[in-house]
Amino acid sequence: MKRFEFKIKRSYLVRLDYGKDLVDQLSSFLEKEGVQTAYVSGIGAVKNAEIGYYDQKKKEYVKRRVEEELEILSLSGNVSLKDGRPYPHIHVVLGKDGNVYAGHLFSAEVFACEIFLLVLDDEAPVRDFDSLTGLFLWS
Ligand code: ZN
Repeated sequence: MKRFEFKIKRSYLVRLDYGKDLVDQLSSFLEKEGVQTAYVSGIGAVKNAEIGYYDQKKKEYVKRRVEEELEILSLSGNVSLKDGRPYPHIHVVLGKDGNVYAGHLFSAEVFACEIFLLVLDDEAPVRDFDSLTGLFLWS
């Protein structure tokens, strides 16, 4: 088990721009504001989302594009450092009219999106390749 302890430094509410990629916008904001560690949550609506899950046997992500217009029923994740840059790791539950799609979020076109960022203080956890899982985990 790895353990990191932080104090809350500051927080943001961020409204993302229509028509642009959710993950790209969030990554740009993190870089611009110098945020290296954070808790992320959000709600809103997107289309053309690319989500996926990690195949634990093959050690690779299986991706799926969902072209529907969907509500972000839940978005949560964290920010840490990967390759020296802030890396948002985001999971979502997207849905509409009883249909639900969930998984790791790779990209999504924003219709409207409200993000809450809780920025944490002190040294950011760093993601390194973990040969046991094939994932980039906090080292
Ligand atoms: Zn993930």
